[in-house]
Amino acid sequence: MVDPRHLWKADERIKQARDEHRAAQLDDQKRCWEKVPGLEELDKTIQRTVSQALAAALRKGTDPGAAVEAARRENLAAQKKRLELLERAGIDPDTLETTPYCPLCKDTGNVNGRICGCVIGLCAKENLAELGAVLDLEQMDFSNVSLEWYSTAFDPDYGMSSREAAQTVLEVCKGYAGQFPDYPCGNLFLYGGTGLGKTFFSGCIAKEVAQKGCWTVYATAGELFAHYEAVKFGRDGSGESQRQVERYQRCDLLVLDDLGSEMVTPFVQSAFYQLLNERMNRRLHTVISSNLTMDDVRARYSLQVASRLEGEYHALPFFGKDIRLQRREKGLR
Ligand SMILES: [Zn+2]
Repeated sequence: MVDPRHLWKADERIKQARDEHRAAQLDDQKRCWEKVPGLEELDKTIQRTVSQALAAALRKGTDPGAAVEAARRENLAAQKKRLELLERAGIDPDTLETTPYCPLCKDTGNVNGRICGCVIGLCAKENLAELGAVLDLEQMDFSNVSLEWYSTAFDPDYGMSSREAAQTVLEVCKGYAGQFPDYPCGNLFLYGGTGLGKTFFSGCIAKEVAQKGCWTVYATAGELFAHYEAVKFGRDGSGESQRQVERYQRCDLLVLDDLGSEMVTPFVQSAFYQLLNERMNRRLHTVISSNLTMDDVRARYSLQVASRLEGEYHALPFFGKDIRLQRREKGLR
């Protein structure tokens, strides 16, 4: 699925790309006309005779045969002469053919009733630009994950070291993004303390999934619920919050960051449950990151929310020592 706004922007861009493509072709033609004397006249003759033949064939009342034949002969002679001129000048005639910007859809944007890859690619660009405005996408890449920040010391609470846990989380997240939307588990719940890489990992997923052309939306819990509240309590004069809510409900992947940082009200509790249900029913995928454990979720939202998360989400723990603190101690950014 694509965001209607991305599609609209993609449409603008494709029109612009087509115009630029056509202008470049006209430039090529002009350069050849300057280089090869007589070529311009021949090209115009070819064009003129095509229209003459067409006009003659459509003329009513008279037998068009002779006029069409004359135009055809003039056209063929001009074409032959043109090829000779081009050959003598060492120009490949194919390079002067007018071709569509996208050979797959011939610039219609559709192939067999489905949106063409050229449009999807442009939508993906819009999507990445949008994500890039709130996430450091340049850094957010699985290849930049360094497991050295996670300790090898055994943690009895988890029955493993934080490095072992991070290694597993990394593999799952990579698989999830790489195979999206076909990874065996459709939803992830990344939980643990601050500064352990939850936002970084979810950002890596968001980027890779958006690059594939799947519609990806990133939001913090605070902003997401603020839009729900604006719609519910009539504070959405411009309709922007309604549009945001629709994005949260319809996008292929929703990355909901920092769950638990927002103010919880009965309205937020029910909006969250509805959102989870809505996305589940539409078979859409969600990645949630949170400082909360499942016990906290149960206490903070509702049993229903907790049972949804437990039943439908693959929970991935983050623990160890705050990486931001470790970096600061080492004098790194
Ligand atoms: Zn196309």
